[in-house]
Amino acid sequence: MNQKYIDKDQWIILEKGFNPDTVKSSESIFSIGNGSMGQRANFEEQYTGPTFQGSYIGGVYYPDRTRVGWWKNGYPEYFAKVLNAPNWIGIDFNIEGESLDLFTAKKVIDFKRILDMRDGVYTRTFDVELNNGTIIRAEVHRFLSMEENEIGAIQYSIQLLSDKAKIKVSPYINGKVKNQDSNWDDPFWEHLIDYSVGKSAFLLSKTNKTNFNVCTYMHADLLLNGEEVSCRQEPFKDELKLGYNAEIELVKGDKLTLTKYGGYTVSLNHSENQLKQVAEEKINSARAKGFIGLLKEHKQQWHTIWKMSDIVIKGDLSAQQGIRFNIFQLNQTYTGKDSRLNIGPKGFTGEKYGGSAYWDTEAYCLPFYMVTKNANVARNLLKYRYDQLPKAIENAKKLGFENGAALYPMVTMNGEECHNEWEITFEEIHRNGAIAYAIYNYVRFTGDQTYIPEMGFEVLVAIARFWRQRVNYSTQKEKYVILGVTGPNEYENNVDNNWYTNYIARWCLRYAAEQYKVLKASHQNEFEEIFIKTSISDQEVHEWLSVAEKVYLPYSEEHQVYLQQDGFLDKELTTVDKLDPKHRPINQNWSWDRILRSPFIKQADTLQGFYFFEEDFTREELERHYNFYSSFTLHESSLSPCVHSILAAKLGKMEDAYKLYLRTSRLDLDDYNKEVEEGLHITSMTGTWMSIVYGFGGLKITDGLLSINPRLPKQWKGISFKINFKGEYLTVEIDGENCDFTWSGNKPMDLILRNKLITVNPNKLKKTIYS
Ligand code: BGC
Repeated sequence: MNQKYIDKDQWIILEKGFNPDTVKSSESIFSIGNGSMGQRANFEEQYTGPTFQGSYIGGVYYPDRTRVGWWKNGYPEYFAKVLNAPNWIGIDFNIEGESLDLFTAKKVIDFKRILDMRDGVYTRTFDVELNNGTIIRAEVHRFLSMEENEIGAIQYSIQLLSDKAKIKVSPYINGKVKNQDSNWDDPFWEHLIDYSVGKSAFLLSKTNKTNFNVCTYMHADLLLNGEEVSCRQEPFKDELKLGYNAEIELVKGDKLTLTKYGGYTVSLNHSENQLKQVAEEKINSARAKGFIGLLKEHKQQWHTIWKMSDIVIKGDLSAQQGIRFNIFQLNQTYTGKDSRLNIGPKGFTGEKYGGSAYWDTEAYCLPFYMVTKNANVARNLLKYRYDQLPKAIENAKKLGFENGAALYPMVTMNGEECHNEWEITFEEIHRNGAIAYAIYNYVRFTGDQTYIPEMGFEVLVAIARFWRQRVNYSTQKEKYVILGVTGPNEYENNVDNNWYTNYIARWCLRYAAEQYKVLKASHQNEFEEIFIKTSISDQEVHEWLSVAEKVYLPYSEEHQVYLQQDGFLDKELTTVDKLDPKHRPINQNWSWDRILRSPFIKQADTLQGFYFFEEDFTREELERHYNFYSSFTLHESSLSPCVHSILAAKLGKMEDAYKLYLRTSRLDLDDYNKEVEEGLHITSMTGTWMSIVYGFGGLKITDGLLSINPRLPKQWKGISFKINFKGEYLTVEIDGENCDFTWSGNKPMDLILRNKLITVNPNKLKKTIYS
């Protein structure tokens, strides 16, 4: 279902009118999260129409046994999946004997969903006429606290618009949940014990195999016209559903308000036998603050987030809403407080990709979190991989590598490989390159010189060792080649010499060697320990460099471009504009065989290399490669358009840059890929941010200095953004001809504006004309 039904607005996402066909899509779009947990925007009340129920807890997963048709040695035993967790939001209403259910109700009027991105609150309002003639008005607010990561709150009010009615309200928690993408229908949870105490309920559960203990809890208070209600609360339990029932008689105009607190306390953060007690403490503290108090703290957190990460786009509401939606969702997914967590491609909004970490984190997400938050957050993302280094070494060992070589997994939850398609698991080894590149990117942006000696160096050595062993010398070519790989473009498998892979492999060997020399030269004694730990020697490093010198890079003299891989020109080189749109997306319409034979490119591949290593190429080279590869690229991965948009902006192809930007930024709001109901494309949302800051803002680092080269699309009157550079903040405001800076540092900073060196003084607006 591909429908544009979201109203345009600066700060809110608004859906008007009730349409059962878009319920699943809206459940994704209106998802809420706080970095530790997240939920799809499922209705609290019963809904019997098509829905995709989802509530997830960061870091809690199940190793679902692998399912493949033909087993290959080296396949991982399981695919780690983020679990659909017990539901704590549920509230059943029975009104004069009829369930409140928007799917079966007689009429739903004035239905609205609102996601207020500034405050982080999801609201729903509607009037509904039931089949029994009762009419009620509902207003529901929900948020997951950004201040206290294990609690959320709901305020659900109903007002009776028709004459009197008897209402039964049943707030509950429910352990009867299932992952839609389960491989074998294994039970993921074991439910241990439950309690209904007064207006609270608790369910203690444990994940099978991984043994995460979770206490799902709730507490719900009722008010009638703002006063406490004196009605009996009867605890109930129906299998794994437990809570209480309360019956109340309402007369016309009465307003019943239910305030429900709930969430999960998890053994990742507390000892197993204290989970219920901690949950009780959470309830008590939430009730003491009240819904308003809890909301106030939550809003403050969001306002602080926005102060740093907001991007203003003047003159284009659609683009403005798009970027804010992306920034909002990214902050809901990862807050950077816990290095055990990472960013799954769907965040907390769906099950696809299992909630695991992909190369997306290093190649795409790191810049956003590093620049809009701080070095600690970015360091936590790097530390995630450092902590998993032993598993990456083990993984490489299983595949026949030795001497501490590491192959990081393509997909992982705890460091073990989860993906089991040979062409990706064994062949998409370029991921190792992105992990090393992220270290380089982190150091140049944050200026943190401690990360490499403390952790990064070991990772770089292990990655360099992998590449050293993965290449082989071709006597034909008199070069080192890398055979049998899949590049970022997954529409080619088992190719030889994917240019991007070879290029980044070479870069990794050189970067690791350079860091060895830096450490050795500056702090020989201090770093002796790491040299011993990694058993690194001058000889090994020398070998890396001589291999790097001779890495083969396929090139076409005829087209004057690097070739995506050996043999690319043997294909029938038809371009995307000749492809009948009805065949797209080709991965849903063509056989894999046909895809592999075609020249069509799923996502930026050679151009991914031009994006990472921009400084290595001239503008003419960039333009030739952009023109050549764009004509074959379908952007059937959401990670792709942003890279093309950034490069197009650098080349001054502003119409292309703008179109590709919109495609990334409104991918989910406008459902370009017709799959938003499965969840949002969280990791590619960072691409929207990069398109603005790196593309239209032209931000990069040149010789250690920030460099800005603004180029705005004609549809925009101006943009402004803020970046954290080496722990200080630079605000950049760009309009048609001016570029103004405010710098928070205590010393003046030199930067490059359109190839000219300028100095920005602390806390003083620096006005410049760039055009
Ligand atoms: C892309 C990969 C990406 C994965 C998760 C795939 O469609 O081709 O590059 O890592 O999605 O986002």
